[in-house]
Amino acid sequence: PIPRSVSIFGATGSIGESTFDLLMRAGGPDAFRTVALTGARNVARLAEMARALRAEVAVTADPACLPALRDALAGSGVEAAAGEAALIEAADRPADWVMSAIVGFAGLAPGLAALRHGRTLALANKESLVTAGPLLMETAKAHGARILPVDSEHSAVFQALAGEEIAAVERIIITASGGAFRDWPLERLAGATVAQASTHPNWAMGQRITIDSASMFNKALEVIETREYFGVPPEMIEVLVHPESLVHAMVGFRDGALMAHLGAPDMRHAIGYALNWPERGHLPVARLDLAQIGRLSFAAPDPARYPALTLAREVMAIRGLAGAVFNAAKEAALDGFIAGQIPFPAMAGVVEEVLARMSAQTGLGIATISLDNLQGADREARGLAGAVIASAR
Ligand code: NDP
Ligand code: MG
Repeated sequence: PIPRSVSIFGATGSIGESTFDLLMRAGGPDAFRTVALTGARNVARLAEMARALRAEVAVTADPACLPALRDALAGSGVEAAAGEAALIEAADRPADWVMSAIVGFAGLAPGLAALRHGRTLALANKESLVTAGPLLMETAKAHGARILPVDSEHSAVFQALAGEEIAAVERIIITASGGAFRDWPLERLAGATVAQASTHPNWAMGQRITIDSASMFNKALEVIETREYFGVPPEMIEVLVHPESLVHAMVGFRDGALMAHLGAPDMRHAIGYALNWPERGHLPVARLDLAQIGRLSFAAPDPARYPALTLAREVMAIRGLAGAVFNAAKEAALDGFIAGQIPFPAMAGVVEEVLARMSAQTGLGIATISLDNLQGADREARGLAGAVIASAR
C-alpha cells in the first residue's frame, strides 16, 4: 500500500523526480499527505513540486536561496525553510515513509534523524551506507525503523532474498555495465575526456554517477553498501560485468540455486518497490521482451581496468572511518578529473594514496563512528586529496 504520509529529501534530483512522478501517478495529494520536500539550488522546481503535492514544508539546503523559495511559494500555504538545521527539523516531522535522495555526505544526517523517529527510510543516498553503515543500521535497529534499499542492485538483492534466510546465502553478485570505457584499450584511458566519461551505455543519470560508472567507483561504493546493508562478509560479494544492464543482481544459495532479478534500467522500479513494499505496485516502467533481447552476457571485471574495485576491498577490511575517507577522496578526485587537473586513470591513484596516508597516520579502523568523527575524516580526506592532486600536476 502507498504510505499515508511521505517526505522526499533531495526532491529536485534525478531520484527525487522519479519519486515525485510515482507519487503523482499514485493519486498525489488526494491519496496521501506530503510532509516535507527538500532541494538545494533549484527552488523553482521545488516550489512547483510542493504546490502539486500540497506539502507542509519545502526546505532548501542553501540559505541564500530562501528568499527565492519564499517568493515561489507565496500564497500556496506551504511553509518555506532553509539550511542544515531546517533539513533536520523537516526529518523530525512525522512521516510514514521518507525518501533519502540527497546527493553526497549531506544526505546522512537527515536520514539518521528519520531513523531515530522509527520511520521507514527508502535509501537511495549511497554515501550513508558507505560512510556510516554500522551507525545507520544500529540506529534503525535501536528505534525499530526500517531501511528499504533503493539503489537498483540492492533493491534487486532485497527482492531476490524475499522469504529466504540470509544464513542460506552463499554469495551475492551485483552487476556493472562496465561504463563508457569498457571496450577501450587500457592505454587510451589516460586521454579520456570528461565528455567521453559522461556517457552511460544504459542508464540516464547525473554526470557524477555516470563518470563513477566508467571508473567503477560507483560499483565500489555499491559493494561496500552490500556489505553494510546485508551484513555479509566481503568475500561473499562479487561483481560481474553485464553490458546489457538487465540483470541487476543475483543471490546464490548454499544449494547452488542462483536467484536473479531482471528489469528495465529505470529507477522507478526500485523506488516503486520501496514505496509499495511489502506489496507490489503497478509500475509505469517498460516490460522486458527477452525474446527480442535474445542474449545476456557476463564477464569478470578486469582489475587493471577497474582498480576502484580493489580499493573497495581495502575499505571493507579496515571499516571504521575508511568508508568516509574513501568516499571523500573519490569525490575530490572526481572534482579534479572534471576540472581537468588529473587524467581519468589517476583518480584511483589519488584515492589509494589518501587511504594509505590516513590509515598510516591515524589508523582508520576505529570501532565507534559518530557524525562528528565522520565529518572530521571527510574534511581531512578532501584536504589531503586536494594536496595529492596539486602535487601530481
Ligand atoms: P542529483 O544530483 O540528481 O540530485 C541531488 C539532490 O540533492 C537534489 O535535490 C539537490 O538539490 C540536492 N542537494 C544537492 N546538494 C545538497 C546539499 N549539500 N544538501 C542538501 N541537498 C542537496 O542526484 P541523484 O538523484 O542522481 O542521486 C541522489 C542519491 O542517490 C546519490 O547518493 C546517488 O548516488 C544515489 N543514487 C542515484 C541513482 C540514479 O539513478 N540517479 C541510482 C542509485 C543511487 P538541487 O538540485 O535543488 O540543487
Ligand atoms: Mg546502482
